[in-house]
Amino acid sequence: MSAEPPNSSPTPRELDQFRDQADSFIRDLDEEYYLHFSGQKETLDVEQVYERYEELTKLETAQKLTGAPTELWRFACEGFLGNLTREHQARLAQAEAELETTVDGETIPYRMLRVAMSNEPDRDKRKRLEEARLRLLDEHLNPIYLDAVQIDQEAVHQLDAPNYYELYKRFGFRLDEVAAECQEVLDDTERLWEREGDKLFRSRLGIGLDEARPWDVVRLFRAPELDKLYPNDQMLPALEHTLTDLGIDLHAQENVHLDLDARPSKSPRAFCAPIEVPGKVMLVIQPIGGKDDWEALFHEAGHTEHYAHTRGDLPVEARRLGDMAVTEGWAMLMQHLVTEPAWLNRRLDVPRVEELARDGAVSLLYFVRRYAAKLLYEIEFFQTEDIPSMRNRYAEILGDSLKLPINPESYLDDIDGSFYVTGYLRSWAFEAQLREFLRSELGNDWFAKRDAGDLLRELWSLGQGPTADELLRDVTGAKLEMASVAERIREGI
Ligand SMILES: [Zn+2]
Repeated sequence: MSAEPPNSSPTPRELDQFRDQADSFIRDLDEEYYLHFSGQKETLDVEQVYERYEELTKLETAQKLTGAPTELWRFACEGFLGNLTREHQARLAQAEAELETTVDGETIPYRMLRVAMSNEPDRDKRKRLEEARLRLLDEHLNPIYLDAVQIDQEAVHQLDAPNYYELYKRFGFRLDEVAAECQEVLDDTERLWEREGDKLFRSRLGIGLDEARPWDVVRLFRAPELDKLYPNDQMLPALEHTLTDLGIDLHAQENVHLDLDARPSKSPRAFCAPIEVPGKVMLVIQPIGGKDDWEALFHEAGHTEHYAHTRGDLPVEARRLGDMAVTEGWAMLMQHLVTEPAWLNRRLDVPRVEELARDGAVSLLYFVRRYAAKLLYEIEFFQTEDIPSMRNRYAEILGDSLKLPINPESYLDDIDGSFYVTGYLRSWAFEAQLREFLRSELGNDWFAKRDAGDLLRELWSLGQGPTADELLRDVTGAKLEMASVAERIREGI
């Protein structure tokens, strides 16, 4: 009999067991998120889910999977790290749900402060709301975030990586290449943002970019004057018709569950919970109406259709894991229809279509510049030994990019983890390039063509087996490039 060495690579059987466990673990987490955020369950009991899958999150499991398919290895490492700070995640969720503050005699829950700010026409009041929010963030949440980051920083060493940034490069994240492309986009669109951002602030809020403050930004994008162009009662029908044009009958999809019920504690924002992929995908909406709400619904519908069309016989790494720029890309493709001139002409009876498209392009410019700066920041953040020093770097790097003052207090809570920021950045490039391809092949109203639907369904069926770069190359022959986003924005302006 021969004894197995402790870190021998897993057998095919062990790998399959790990896949099954991973699939159920994510299913249970998604179900928990769904129940909590759809307002059907008061608490978010993520910790209990972690407890049920203890084996999955052990250090030995992560170490053993080092030579396994990268996505499984990454999942094991993220499970190990996530498990170490699961108590922090629970405390943060609890604090966010319970904290409240009083502004001008009115008591407002922490989670509603940004919404209140976006709906507040009075600048001084917005300032007071933001100051109250930042006090709560800094006093109650930042100490928990900081502790969690420090735990992660130590734990990464146990995964044999010098830091989190190096760990993600080992997972195949092209962080430096994407960052270099982002820096080019930032340089290339700097003047454009100064000019167009200034115009947008002036037209909507009557102030220049140089006068804008953090509490003005949420108000800028809230744009209540656009609400009447995007009415509540037409939102779901517009989605249904758009999908019908692509050959999809939303209500006939047995694996798609529309949750339209109004519940007091339901999340005001649409979301998608792929509890089983492709078997049970929840699309949760509390229709409020307005441009933001329409964009959120179409975005989440993009995720929903992607997961609902994914082939069930693919391994879990292709159904649930993989390159998140793929599912975000499908979401962006749907989301951006809401400001697409040809789509607006077909689906909504609105005047000033070109103006809406231009607004859409300037908003995209803001978000691309913000996320490009976030990536540069996170690359520094995850290499530093001195985390508190990053507080000022955060405000510096994002301020340079957006040309307005940034709250240093957000230096921790503005990090999504797992370098998800590159998923969004690359999804914008994927969307820009795929849209360009669809328009050249099928015309500006590609979204109303059955051929487009056939192609999308075929691509959706692949799940996230191929990366966004691979999908794009296979379909269009082109390389995924951040510069395409700048081009798309210029065209819209
Ligand atoms: Zn998304």
